Amino acid sequence: MFVKTLGIASTLLAVAAGAAAQEQVLNLYSARHYSTDEALYANFTKATGIKINRVDADDAGILSRLKAEGAASPADVILLVDAARLHKGEIDGLFQPIKSKLLEDAIAAQYRGKSTAEGTPWFGFSTRARVVVYDKAKVKREDVDTYEELADPKNKGKICIRSGSHPYNLSLFGAVTEHLGEQKAEAWLKGVVANLARDPKGGDTDQIKAVGAGECQIAVSNSYYIARLLRSGKPEDKDLMERVAVVFPNQSSWGAHLNIAGGAVARHAKHPANAIKFMEYLASPEAQNYFANGNNEWPVARGVKVNNPALQAMAGGGDFKSETIPLAAIAANQVKVQQMLDRVGFK
Ligand code: FE
Repeated sequence: MFVKTLGIASTLLAVAAGAAAQEQVLNLYSARHYSTDEALYANFTKATGIKINRVDADDAGILSRLKAEGAASPADVILLVDAARLHKGEIDGLFQPIKSKLLEDAIAAQYRGKSTAEGTPWFGFSTRARVVVYDKAKVKREDVDTYEELADPKNKGKICIRSGSHPYNLSLFGAVTEHLGEQKAEAWLKGVVANLARDPKGGDTDQIKAVGAGECQIAVSNSYYIARLLRSGKPEDKDLMERVAVVFPNQSSWGAHLNIAGGAVARHAKHPANAIKFMEYLASPEAQNYFANGNNEWPVARGVKVNNPALQAMAGGGDFKSETIPLAAIAANQVKVQQMLDRVGFK
């Protein structure tokens, strides 16, 4: 693609113009592909005069591309999905910590990377919950209203879930590890494997559809996939969503597991000031609405609310209890979790 050319062009320009006069450009590597993001970027350009060059790829593609490009990378800001991936980018040295009073005030410490004297490595801009979907005709709500029960023998042969090594599950299991401790978490994972209706395959939506098809009775999914199905006009999606119910787990204990979509400034950003400006813009109420609502997520910035009927319906009126452990701590468990998955045979 055009990225390589872009890299050379911006390097030459930077040399020609000197570091002081930064071009009014921002190179964005994004794992987000939502039509509402177009308005998000257009409004930033309108407000600041900074043009956005965007490279779209999936999360893994972006991380490997950054690694391959090294110091020559033109990337200024990187948008990724799930704290497990943001943490991976951080420990691989692909980001530069930033200091922004605005971002620190807007985004609670729970939803950002761990701050050091150098700054904060990444910030979350929207949240999603990892919840349980079940067949209303076959499963009782009280049998699936905690994550712990996914490992209970009463749910044997009923569960569909995507690969254990997927970042969404690494984070959920990392959270369970924080709550239960390592030993109990591993026993729990073993119990979940024993309860699977089939080997893990497909994405979250596929698990919900498998419940609809009668292949399983319980599925684990991120909340926005459910909201998407709830908003779908397709008759088969409407039928599916009438058969299933959603439960936000652990409402009487630690709360539903939340994750984030977020961003970071690239280690070798050629336009660092523009990058911070863009990150700060993403925390503004207007941008939060596009960023979160576009994918049926909840805004992260303090005091910002979206009015999304599908989200409200799904959460039974709007409010639910969510866990309060910092995502940086949860994401830091992923190597440990992967080892447990290998030991218990969770594919
Ligand atoms: Fe997703």
